[in-house]
Amino acid sequence: MAEALGTLIGIAGSIDLRSVVDILLVALVLYSLLLLLRGTTAMSLLRAIVVVYVAGFALSYVLQLTMVGWLLRNSFPAMLVAIPILFQPELRRVLEQVGRGFGISRLTGRNGLDGSAAVDAVARACLTLGQRHVGALIVLERATGLQEYVDQGFLIDAVVSPELLLALFATSSPFHDGAVVIRRGRIVAARCVMPLSDNPGPHVALGTRHRAAAGISEQTDAIAIAVSEERGSTSLAVGGRMVTFPPGENIRSVLAHHFASREPAAETPAPEEELTRV
Ligand code: ATP
Ligand code: MG
Repeated sequence: MAEALGTLIGIAGSIDLRSVVDILLVALVLYSLLLLLRGTTAMSLLRAIVVVYVAGFALSYVLQLTMVGWLLRNSFPAMLVAIPILFQPELRRVLEQVGRGFGISRLTGRNGLDGSAAVDAVARACLTLGQRHVGALIVLERATGLQEYVDQGFLIDAVVSPELLLALFATSSPFHDGAVVIRRGRIVAARCVMPLSDNPGPHVALGTRHRAAAGISEQTDAIAIAVSEERGSTSLAVGGRMVTFPPGENIRSVLAHHFASREPAAETPAPEEELTRV
């Protein structure tokens, strides 16, 4: 007992300010990563890895399983390669958030001053689209560039207006499939293909348009709005979380609130508070 206490005092004595900063930085990085992974499939994967390692080490220690212990110890270097591959989308999001944290979006002013007019036009278009049961997917770019998705779509350069959005998403229009991307108050492309979300959430029960809205909001800080052809409802996805409004409800104030904020994840409700009012 006295020996253990002595060791503890020895360790405490050797901790200087640099070690404290070191430990705090590592804790901060791990905490931020866990926050980003919360509610994603990557979290289940991480949990499974931790369970396998803890159970494996415990078993090999208690039952003296030399081979299992050896295998687990030697698989650590392989994990260093496997983890960036498994968590590539999440790591990308972390780096993007770091970039935004350094104020890159503030310097480039991507939100733009014409944002409120665009928000107004999008909200009005969604109201009419929902009432007419015309499906739509509208993605509003914020700090993270969506050029890779724009490039795959049909390029347009026009000021956002409810009339133009209604014309683009009309079922007879050649542009009604896929997503319209809006950047700084202008429609930059239509018929864009968005990444589908694999994570659990209300969008899974809704369909591919809603999964695409959730997907782009998980991978970037964009705001994605899906108008359901079947239900007439409007769903807003930010930071991978989706809120659904019934037909006839104007999303203007919610959209303006999200558009004004630059940190999407902190502004959206936690999954358990998610509001699905379909
Ligand atoms: P709705 O409620 O309107 O029926 P949904 O979520 O049930 O929507 P689907 O019925 O599968 O989804 O909608 C299909 C439409 O969604 C497609 O015609 C296409 O316009 C759009 N869509 C599907 N996948 C994507 C994608 N990856 N990116 C952009 N748009 C997509
Ligand atoms: Mg459908």
